Amino acid sequence: MPCPPFITEENSKVKKSKSNWSEDTKLTHAGRDPDAYHGIVNPPISRTSTILYPDLAAYENPSHRYRYGRMGNPMSDAFESAMAELESGIGAVGTQTGMAAITTSILSIVKSGDHVLMVDTVYPPTRYFAANILKRMNVEVEYYDPMIGADIQSLIRDNTSIIYLESPGSATFEIMDVPTITKIAKDKGITTILDNTYSAGILFKPLDHGVDISFQSCTKYVGGHSDINLGVIATKDEALLKLIRSAAWDLGVAPTAEDMYLALRGLRTLTTRMKQNAANALEVLGYMQTREEFAKLFHPSLETHKGHDIWKRDFKGANGLIGFMLQDAPSKAVHDFINALELFPIGSSWGGFESLCQPQDLKSYRTAVPWDGTGACFRLQVGLEAPKDLIGDLEQGLKVFNAEK
Ligand SMILES: *Cc1c(COP(=O)(O)O)cnc(C)c1O
Repeated sequence: MPCPPFITEENSKVKKSKSNWSEDTKLTHAGRDPDAYHGIVNPPISRTSTILYPDLAAYENPSHRYRYGRMGNPMSDAFESAMAELESGIGAVGTQTGMAAITTSILSIVKSGDHVLMVDTVYPPTRYFAANILKRMNVEVEYYDPMIGADIQSLIRDNTSIIYLESPGSATFEIMDVPTITKIAKDKGITTILDNTYSAGILFKPLDHGVDISFQSCTKYVGGHSDINLGVIATKDEALLKLIRSAAWDLGVAPTAEDMYLALRGLRTLTTRMKQNAANALEVLGYMQTREEFAKLFHPSLETHKGHDIWKRDFKGANGLIGFMLQDAPSKAVHDFINALELFPIGSSWGGFESLCQPQDLKSYRTAVPWDGTGACFRLQVGLEAPKDLIGDLEQGLKVFNAEK
């Protein structure tokens, strides 16, 4: 019984964008229906747990749209409908956090005794979920090289139920050959799930490249202002959508109306912000390439980057993230460099308006392709500050580094 029978799946109250509109136009309209709300531009926040029925017959009517706050409300309809458009799905399911999108996607498919293939460059908390929960459920998770391509075939077993992808990979941004892998998975009846947070639904459309389930953490670019945790899962497949909806209900991961409201607000400026984040990051990257202190740089636009050609083939661009490994240096020099940065404070997450820097302990969480770099690794989130100020900040930090290394 995938869904309680009284819930209808379609977001019936929400107008769809015209199919010939370009993305910028779609994202100004997606999920909005002013006519339904007295002309109010944005859908009002619907705060609800209880929904009342005029009589018992209405309660028993299977097509009654709303039942209970956690099981759907006008705000979740607006948000999910907009996000389905962004990810080119037939529908989408909102989740409290990006992490809940990960766990709900996997748990909607997997069962005890299954084998799951997971990319080695996965977002580290996904790895912890596999080690802490999936293992206890008797699900075996095997990690594979993000550059595996068609060789994924050799790892598939009779009980493989999921191939889990993330492209670009976390921290080092390897680009996977998604169409090749999804074709093999389809032939074998294996479900593919891709973490699309990097692309925010803009730079890459997994569902158009054969992926069955695409999800993202809206905490990042969609939210865009470092003030929410939220996730969303999209698919083009009616049966999968039901399974995901059912898992989300069973797990109780419904997001708050306020967070969905803020995500919709972020959506209106998503393409504009991302273009600026990306352009700023390219300028900062250009400077970093001139400095030997950055022993390795990770950004899909670099010709030497793993999967650069696939990125050119499949992606519309890069986002505002840059990974780097510093030259070997004493720990004090590394600390004093990072602490000297004023415009790149240390903090988790990315996709907001402001720049950040976060250490990346690659050695501790790569297993299929062990990390052999010797320098300290970090990830910069390049925000909307002027690139010249960001570059100036890195420059003054490097003076501290060089004085001590
Ligand atoms: C942040 C992030 C998530 C998790 O999102 P939360 O809202 O923090 O739970 C998942 N995947 C990737 C790639 C992320 O960067």
